[in-house]
Amino acid sequence: MQDNSNVTNQKLKQAIEARIAIEDARKFQVDKLSQLAAKLSLCSKGIDIQLDNKLAKFRTALTKGIDFELLIPMIDNIMHMLQSQEKIQLSQQQALFSSVQNAGKQLQKTKKMPEETRRVLRNLLDHELANVHSTPAYIPLLDKLVNIYHEVLKVKLEIISESKNETANPALAKKLLQLSNELKLEDNAAKQIIDIQNDLAENDSLDSLLNSAIAIIQIVVKNISKERQSAQNFLVSLNQTIEELHVSIVSTRTHSESMNQEFKDLNSKIESKIKNLNIQTQKATSISALKEIVDNELKSLSQDFLAKEKLEQAERDTLIDSFKNINEHISNLESKLTKYKKRLNEQRSQSLIDSLTKLPNRAAFDERYNHEIHLYNMEASDLTLVVIDVDHFKSINDRFGHSAGDITLQVISKALQKSIRKSDFIARYGGEEFVLLMPGTPLEFASIPLEKLRKTIKAIPFKFKDTQIQITISLGATQLKSGDTQLDAFNRADDALYTAKNSGRDRLCLSK
Ligand code: GH3
Ligand code: MG
Ligand code: MG
Repeated sequence: MQDNSNVTNQKLKQAIEARIAIEDARKFQVDKLSQLAAKLSLCSKGIDIQLDNKLAKFRTALTKGIDFELLIPMIDNIMHMLQSQEKIQLSQQQALFSSVQNAGKQLQKTKKMPEETRRVLRNLLDHELANVHSTPAYIPLLDKLVNIYHEVLKVKLEIISESKNETANPALAKKLLQLSNELKLEDNAAKQIIDIQNDLAENDSLDSLLNSAIAIIQIVVKNISKERQSAQNFLVSLNQTIEELHVSIVSTRTHSESMNQEFKDLNSKIESKIKNLNIQTQKATSISALKEIVDNELKSLSQDFLAKEKLEQAERDTLIDSFKNINEHISNLESKLTKYKKRLNEQRSQSLIDSLTKLPNRAAFDERYNHEIHLYNMEASDLTLVVIDVDHFKSINDRFGHSAGDITLQVISKALQKSIRKSDFIARYGGEEFVLLMPGTPLEFASIPLEKLRKTIKAIPFKFKDTQIQITISLGATQLKSGDTQLDAFNRADDALYTAKNSGRDRLCLSK
């Protein structure tokens, strides 16, 4: 019996120990799982709030020792959320990959990249980046790409600082020269501009281009303020003269007013003396008494007449003086006005003349063309418009230099001006292009003089550096039609010129 109960006790004890061991093992597992859940939730913290919450609940459930049966739906739910999170991350990763690829391709288009860098970049884009599928593996490659960006940026910055010494855009220099040509300034300033132009012709680096631009602007600003100062001075002196004139006139008037009073007084004095003489002579009783009265009165009268004459003379003198004065002021004013008008006229006509060829410039042409179109619309008289362009002019510059080109343009311009009729109008439209207006000439009658013009230019014996050169022109002509705008007719003439150029140059083409 004793033995039996011992055995039972032993078994019970064993069972209790086994249960404790099982519970310890379970506690250990639950702890491990809780730790895992805790770490997992820390890893994924911040990715998704809902996921954070679910993991926190799961963690508490585990520590409280809730039945596994009850934990399963929680785990399913968390798994589901993790799956959709994975999808989101995958698509974000895809977007990252393709934007990195694009950035790399953009970078490849960069000019002046060192050859070695270009090779590294090509390898990175074609192989390394293409074979990576996880974000962590991507990070060192991104680092590589950023380094390549740094290198390219460094090269670019060097190019920019070097470009300060590079030759500047020649079109810019040309435009600057052209603009400064159009400035109409007083002699001294014009000379300074020419100096700047010469400097620029020798050295058209960006630096000197900028310096020239600043210098030209300075001259223009100085000129404008000088012009304004001189206009102001003129107005001030005009005002002064008018003021002086006013003072002269007023003083003359007050002077003659006071004289008038003296005259009146003298006259009434003379009148009363004559009256008195009359009375006295009637009263006189003897010839000798009469003689004495008359004598006395006449003496006093002649004094009065003398005074009157003096007064008259003084008045005449002051009048003459003040008229002289006024006259001087007026002629002074007139001469100032004439000078000013002359200057204005000079400035106006200067601004309408091309400085190189002395022909009317484009602004003058626009003005005249406007006027001719106005006349055409009033009277519908014929107007032929011709656009003329020198053939292969660039090669003159290229072969013999820009100054030879300039002289050629001057010679051609002189010949053109000399060959047209008095009623015609020619202008330098720009560069080696001219426009000719032939009022009163229909297109059919324009061909003969225009052909003559073409041959005249062709016959000029140009000689550069012992080389005989023949220079030709191409011409496009049209006649104004009713309803034409300025531009319509111009474009037609220009089209005709284009045809002349395309069909071999040195010819006249008409557009009807
Ligand atoms: P095309 O027969 O087709 O008209 O040929 P082109 O060489 O005359 O025409 P293009 O328009 O190619 O060149 C015109 C040249 O005229 C280029 C420019 O340097 C030169 N030019 C324009 N204005 C002047 C100037 O005032 N002086 C000088 N020397 N050259 C000028
Ligand atoms: Mg041209
Ligand atoms: Mg040309």
